[in-house]
Order: sequence, then structure tokens, then C-alpha cells
Amino acid sequence: MNKPFTAVKPLVLLALMAWVVAPVLSACQSAAAPTADRASQTNLTVSVLPLAYFAERVGGDWVSVNVMVGPGEEPHTYEPTPEQMKAISDSAAFFSIGVEYEDVWLPRLAETNPDMVIIDASNGIERIPVPTAVAEVGVQPEGKEDANYDHEEEGGLDPHVWLSPENGKIIAENILNGLIGIDPGHETAFRSNYEALIADIDALDAQIRETLAGDANRSFMVFHPAWGYFAQQYDLQQIAVQVGGQDPSASELAQLVDLAREKGISAIFVSPAINAASAEAVAQEIGGSVVMVDPLAEDWLENLNEAATAFSKSFGE
Ligand SMILES: [Zn+2]
Repeated sequence: MNKPFTAVKPLVLLALMAWVVAPVLSACQSAAAPTADRASQTNLTVSVLPLAYFAERVGGDWVSVNVMVGPGEEPHTYEPTPEQMKAISDSAAFFSIGVEYEDVWLPRLAETNPDMVIIDASNGIERIPVPTAVAEVGVQPEGKEDANYDHEEEGGLDPHVWLSPENGKIIAENILNGLIGIDPGHETAFRSNYEALIADIDALDAQIRETLAGDANRSFMVFHPAWGYFAQQYDLQQIAVQVGGQDPSASELAQLVDLAREKGISAIFVSPAINAASAEAVAQEIGGSVVMVDPLAEDWLENLNEAATAFSKSFGE
């Protein structure tokens, strides 16, 4: 694995440690006293809501977490509010995850607060290509009739890296190392919080395997293809209604309906932030239902568990 801690400005980091560590040493010497007052907490900003879960689990009472892309917002099109830009100026660190808005905004956030350390929480995760609905199952999308069609052409790599337990472990480790870097005085507490989180992720993984154990048919249909990493870890097939971020054409929709019938799929999964009218259309055609699964839920652990149950229920016999 690559080095999990990326300090954008090492000199700034040293300066930062001076003011983070000094008050921390005087105020809270012992990791056994878990209640930190606000003044001794390190302010962090995280890119998307599920990262807040990791930062809070590992940082415990020693961190105060501000979130950029909040509940119901869509990281592909998101822009920070003026209040969030203000919160950035108080943050000791920013944990990024590699969603689209960061490309444009990270340099601006760094300019707003040059002392803020920017840490890539996805460091070490191998990104997979964005799946396109029909390419995944061997049917060419419209206008892409080339036999060598490769879905990587469709728009690069899948940004939804946080949606699998194995990637969750990598994120947890990156957050652990990031926190130790900015607040080394609480390394012991961070490490024990991290160990507890890893144990919970292992238990989650076992639970998901049990949920999916009896399922021979392992195809599920989603509107927005956010669950590729989850599908990869559990040997599932994600079929996406959206193609390259676009609604499907009428003939693609017809292909999806055929495919759903053929696989016995009984639900189309949608996420709260995305208008998914064509998911309704497919669901009606197959006599199935539209079911919400949120790729950005804050309770990351419970959310993955619920997603596994929902996917399993939707599989054909
Ligand atoms: Zn997405």
C-alpha cells in the first residue's frame, strides 16, 4: 500500500502541529479522560458525509467534524456554501475522497486556508472503471456498437470508493494516519478507536456474507451506478439504468426491462439526491418497485448492512 498520509504542505504541517499540540498537552494529557472540551478538539472538514463517520469513529471526542457534501446533496454537481468556506478557514485538515467537485474546489479550499493539511482518504484504493448499464452485461450502448467497446471510454473511474467494507478499512487507516499526523498527542486513543472500528467492519463483512450466502442470482439494478465496489467485493453484478451520467434512451430502456425480466429482478434502487424518473419506468414495466439506497448515508456501517439486505431481497430466484 502507498504511504497513507499525504501532507500537501509539510512545513505548514509543522507549524500546525505547534499550535495543535501545545494546547492539547496542557489540557488533556491522558487518553483515559475521553471528554474533551471544544477548545481542545481539532477541527476537521470531510468531503462527503460517510467520511464523517470514519473521522468521528477514529477521532472520537478529540475531533470536531465539518462536512462539505451534506445529507441529500450530490457530490457530482456540488458547490460549497459561503458558511462552509468559513468552516474551512478553521479546519486543521481536509479529508478528500476523490469525488468530482474536489477537482475544482480543492485548490480553492487550500487557498482559503493555506495552513490546512489536505489528506486523501482514498489513498491506496484501486479505482475501478465506471460501469455502464449495458456494457456490463454484454449489450452495447446505443451509438457504441463497436465490438471492442470498453466502458472506460464512458467517463473514467468510479468515484464511489467508500461503498465497500474492504475500502472502508483503507479509509479508516488513512484517517488514522492523518489524525496522528496532525494530533500526535492522541495517537493511543486514535489507535484504539481505529481497532474497534476495524473489528466492527469485520463483523459487518461477515454479516453481509451471511445475508448474501444463499443467493445464486446476484444481479441488482440501480439508477445511478454507485455500488460497483460493493458488487466487486461480494461477487454481485450491478446493472445501471444511467449510462454515462445520462438517462437511457427509449431502446436502452427497453433493453433494461428485458434484462430485469430475464434476471428476475424485482426492484430498482435509487438514491435520494438524484431524480430517477426512468427508474420508475423500468419498475412499472417489470411490476417491481423503486427502493431507496443512499450512497451518502452518514451511518456508513449500518447503511452497507441495509444495502446488502435490500439487494438480496431484489435478486431473482
Ligand atoms: Zn454518485
